[in-house]
Amino acid sequence: MTSDIIRASAAELADRLSRKEISAVEATQAHLDRIADVDGSVKAFLHVDSAGALATARDIDRRRAAGEDLHVLAGVPIAVKDIVTTKGLPTTAGSRILEGWIPPYDATIVTKLKAAGMPILGKTNMDEFAMGSSTEHSAFGPSHNPWDLARIPGGSGGGSAAAVASYQAPLAIGTDTGGSIRQPAAVTGTVGTKPTYGGVSRYGLIALASSLDQAGPVTRTVLDAALLHSVIGGYDRMDSTSIDAPVPPVIEAARRANVKGMRIGVIKELGGKGYQQGVRARFEESVQLLVDAGAEVVEVSCPSFEYALAAYYLILPAEASSNLAKFDAMRYGLRVLPEGVDDPSAEQVMAASRDAGFGDEVKRRIILGTYALSSGYYDAYYGSAQKVRTLISRDFASAFEKADVLMSPTTPTTAFKIGEKVHDPLAMYLNDIATIPANLAGVPGMSLPSGLADEDGLPTGVQILAPATKDERLYGVGAALEAALVARWGGPLLAKAPELATTRSSREVRA
Ligand code: GLN
Repeated sequence: MTSDIIRASAAELADRLSRKEISAVEATQAHLDRIADVDGSVKAFLHVDSAGALATARDIDRRRAAGEDLHVLAGVPIAVKDIVTTKGLPTTAGSRILEGWIPPYDATIVTKLKAAGMPILGKTNMDEFAMGSSTEHSAFGPSHNPWDLARIPGGSGGGSAAAVASYQAPLAIGTDTGGSIRQPAAVTGTVGTKPTYGGVSRYGLIALASSLDQAGPVTRTVLDAALLHSVIGGYDRMDSTSIDAPVPPVIEAARRANVKGMRIGVIKELGGKGYQQGVRARFEESVQLLVDAGAEVVEVSCPSFEYALAAYYLILPAEASSNLAKFDAMRYGLRVLPEGVDDPSAEQVMAASRDAGFGDEVKRRIILGTYALSSGYYDAYYGSAQKVRTLISRDFASAFEKADVLMSPTTPTTAFKIGEKVHDPLAMYLNDIATIPANLAGVPGMSLPSGLADEDGLPTGVQILAPATKDERLYGVGAALEAALVARWGGPLLAKAPELATTRSSREVRA
């Protein structure tokens, strides 16, 4: 029964809940049990809120019994990345500097999850302030890839992806500034969407780079992603860059799953050299499956994408250095007094706290960003990067004249080993070479599983990109491709993942 519940998709759970075959408490408890069982080895969660999740579930069961009209996802539990503020629940963004902080407010997306009646299981692990591609920059230790516990689950939202891939949650929230939803999805065999910039409120997300950040769904199916996207999307007056328009018709598109006559643009610059053989092979198969389903393939060229990574690593640190200035040990979070100073000044306390509270990657980017913005260098670095950003948007615009959606592999490689790249920042940055252009241009992107690489048996991801505000195209194409792939595999890809051994002690299991 429990294994049946945790392996169901969110859409299936929603059906069974509405037919009263299971209760919200059962659905929630099954996932809490799974967390107790396997999170000792996966380490997807930084904080589990059993009491809060069960209280929401009980409330939903009561309201359903009373005949209330409930949201489709009412009673379907969810995990939330720890960069999203949750009232009364710890929120660290993976950093020591926020250890012990309990936010006094909810992010808008959390308010929406609560309004839909979705029990929040807990907060998921991530690279500190979402800087990274492996969760190894988390101050609280890495999460592990359920396909191979010695490997990374991607980052920065590796905790959310690992939780969903290991059936600890049917749904999770991620955030994507340069790929942190899509890259973890690719390496864990899950689905992740970065909506159009402004499509989902940023209010209450701890900002990394405000012009790039966007929250979105992490799920096991395309339809589930559409359902969650519809819950969290939409206009919010608390976010000045929020788009004042209805959520795109993503659920309808996912259900229709039709690609007949659609033009799929394969991006010449993303793929080929530098991409692992198995990643390329699975990508080409996916393109062929879409052709078989009635789509037309065109090759498109986006020459400026070559400079996307360089531009991103100037714009992101510049914005991050400014956003992270608020962690000054005066208002909230960690406060460390400098050693051997009798009567420290505020500035000395700030320096000591920021030194102790931030990890190396965060410090590296603050230094880089502060330098790039400094007077005399602004035009040479930040200014040039902004010009590249414009060129990238133009490349997208001309590519979307020839194609309805664009496609590429999501990541150059499958999941690498924990420890393999953590001391080599450039190698780490290169993981996002294919995902970053979408953030720079604000267009929506989705990653979905394309199979397993022959050489290592690990999941590979395919990325679909659409013009801004046309998020529904991701879901239409994604669902069509997913249907073709699942038919070929004879079931979902995650069914091929190894079983995880329980990490509960025998005493706990009995109790
Ligand atoms: N890995 C990228 C980085 O380190 C992307 C992070 C993100 O999307 N939050 O910046």
